[in-house]
Amino acid sequence: MSTVEKINLLGLTRSKMEQFFADLGEKPFRAKQVMQWVHQFGVSDFDLMTNISKTLRTKLAEVSEIKVPEVIYQDISSDGTRKWVMKMDGGSSIETVLIPDGNRGTLCISSQIGCALDCSFCSTGKQGFNRNLSAAEIIGQIWVAVKSFEDIDPTKDRPVTNVVMMGMGEPLLNFDNVMDAMNVMMDDFAYSISKRRLTLSTAGVVPAIKKLSQFTDASIAISLHAPNDELRDQLVPVNQKYPIRELLDALNGYLESLSDKRKATIEYTLIAGVNDQPEHARELVEVLKGVPCKVNLIPFNPFPQSDYTKPSGNAIHRFQNILVEGGYVTTIRSTRGDDIDAACGQLVGKVEDRTRRSAKYIPLKQHTS
Ligand code: SAH
Repeated sequence: MSTVEKINLLGLTRSKMEQFFADLGEKPFRAKQVMQWVHQFGVSDFDLMTNISKTLRTKLAEVSEIKVPEVIYQDISSDGTRKWVMKMDGGSSIETVLIPDGNRGTLCISSQIGCALDCSFCSTGKQGFNRNLSAAEIIGQIWVAVKSFEDIDPTKDRPVTNVVMMGMGEPLLNFDNVMDAMNVMMDDFAYSISKRRLTLSTAGVVPAIKKLSQFTDASIAISLHAPNDELRDQLVPVNQKYPIRELLDALNGYLESLSDKRKATIEYTLIAGVNDQPEHARELVEVLKGVPCKVNLIPFNPFPQSDYTKPSGNAIHRFQNILVEGGYVTTIRSTRGDDIDAACGQLVGKVEDRTRRSAKYIPLKQHTS
């Protein structure tokens, strides 16, 4: 007898879960019940679902499972940042980070094992690309984060209020699974993350941005990192395919589709001598005209295989001032969790590289103006 693979309920959206119960000849409200057990009460064992009959629980266990990621390492930073390393099927591992800040808890989630985009300043890219994460593997990260707060009442306290798709991988190159996972995050019977507090970050996969509004109304961040195509082509190679103007036009299209007035976040990693000069800031002020946005400056976080360095505090503030004078709300991302290697671009996991890309680094002087 061949063994039929069990369906993992962790990654199912409400409509897919309702379909699953319909296929079993059950009522749709079962979907809400099971989603609450799994996502709000952290239950992965059908036998604990007390409002579901024994017969149905047995049936569920026969055809489905709630398979959560295996945490192989957990660390809490001195500033409260939590980091998990989770082992995925196939042997690679991914990293997830939770950054608490007052009443807010921001979870940084990965969408792929490794990344194919090979941005010159990102350590994830240096590991090459292995595979897409399933919707269950993406949701599994928020499940683990919430579950780590064992002592709370999940119906009152929400350790995760915000989610940013800014971990490993390019979310728009894993479109269907990421859309399903975001859908579950926003579901009131799961994590109730609001559309304003769920941010998809992309390096600029233009065709996917163009169709995005058919699937979600979450917030969006663009990893821009350069004010002109010549420089961006080198830092973010996907720019060679989808240049800045096309990217910003697609972004505007998405923002216009939203029912509220929302701004995009423009992420700009500042690298000393590469993209941090006053003329870059002035050019950025011009290029962003007509795009409703705020700018988030990320001082480059060094990692071993990179020659880049982070600009001085003065250079960062000088850059920020030019943007502020140009009319943009501009924040500097504080480095959180760097004592546990949980800062941006330090999320590397351990990728079994399938692409075998040889490391490519752009020498610093090439960009120095
Ligand atoms: N692929 C998506 C999601 C990853 S987001 C995207 O590019 O938006 C990760 C963010 O951290 C991106 O803005 C990325 O450019 C930034 N980042 C990557 N490496 C970094 C580093 N070494 N220092 C600072 N920021 C970095």
